[in-house]
Amino acid sequence: AAKDGGRGRYHFYATDLHADAEARAEMEGDLRDAIAKGELQLFYQPVVASASEQIAGFEALMRWHHPVKGWIPPNLFIESAEETGLIQQMGDWALRQACEDVANWPESVRVAVNVSPIQFSNPQLPAIVTGAVSRAGIDPSRLELEITESVFLNDDAGTDAMFAALKGIGVRLALDDFGTGYSSLGYLKKAPFDKIKIDQSFVRGATEEGSRNRAIIASITSLAHALGMDTTAEGVETLDELDLVRMHGCSHVQGFIYERPLSFDKASELLSSGLAAVARGPQSSRAPR
Ligand code: C2E
Ligand code: MG
Ligand code: MG
Ligand code: MG
Repeated sequence: AAKDGGRGRYHFYATDLHADAEARAEMEGDLRDAIAKGELQLFYQPVVASASEQIAGFEALMRWHHPVKGWIPPNLFIESAEETGLIQQMGDWALRQACEDVANWPESVRVAVNVSPIQFSNPQLPAIVTGAVSRAGIDPSRLELEITESVFLNDDAGTDAMFAALKGIGVRLALDDFGTGYSSLGYLKKAPFDKIKIDQSFVRGATEEGSRNRAIIASITSLAHALGMDTTAEGVETLDELDLVRMHGCSHVQGFIYERPLSFDKASELLSSGLAAVARGPQSSRAPR
């Protein structure tokens, strides 16, 4: 078709498609190598309990150390992994690795692992989770699975059965990026979540005067509280944001204000040394008057 000189536009379109297909094939090959050569790593970002300001757990976040391109963030490869189906293998590995890692930490510390909708629709997922937990010898309640609203796109008997099976294992379930997708209160009612993670897009700008995000944060936290669920505010970067989400009763906070995602070694060091207190100036709304 590219030789069809009479239709220039089609020619360019075909060329672009070709380049696209080439890039995809290259990515797929690179990802297969990455899995085989152990280039994937889990980094760990502290999740801090609001009441104690102690580390309640860590979220495992995948990183790819490419031999030539260096560190690659998940936003650049998770989608390809999902399209090619490689996410299945990568996700199994992440579950096993995270369970193995958390086994080295105090019993009170949990680990949260992101689970792609592709993994969620695999009937083998409960067996994979059980395998990871028992191999590491950890209590299942120390593992939290982060699931996004997109699993409800094909909301059917299979979805309900999967939630029941995972809940039956004793792992915790968190609804990730809440509010960014197809938010429906219907599934909050029936899915057995232990936690709602408030997406960082609501935290960002929430401190501005008259912000609508503030009303959204307030209603999500009160809803979660009424349903007996924890809430984590994601992406908290500033002291004002921290004070705001704490004031609205978020039970947990995750964000650069405390720590960025860390290597396993650095996360382990942090657990021993303790989280540094966030410096609060005299202007802090929480300072005694
Ligand atoms: P997520 O699960 O919502 O993870 C939170 C993201 O917010 C992480 O990005 C984290 O580094 C970032 N973040 C945390 N605190 C702050 C902050 O204060 N400010 C800003 N600007 N960002 C903050 P990351 O590590 O790049 O991961 C992006 C997304 O990739 C994740 O979003 C998740 O959807 C996906 N992902 C990461 N690891 C995995 C994995 O192992 N499996 C699957 N399926 N998806 C993963
Ligand atoms: Mg997450
Ligand atoms: Mg999130
Ligand atoms: Mg996300």
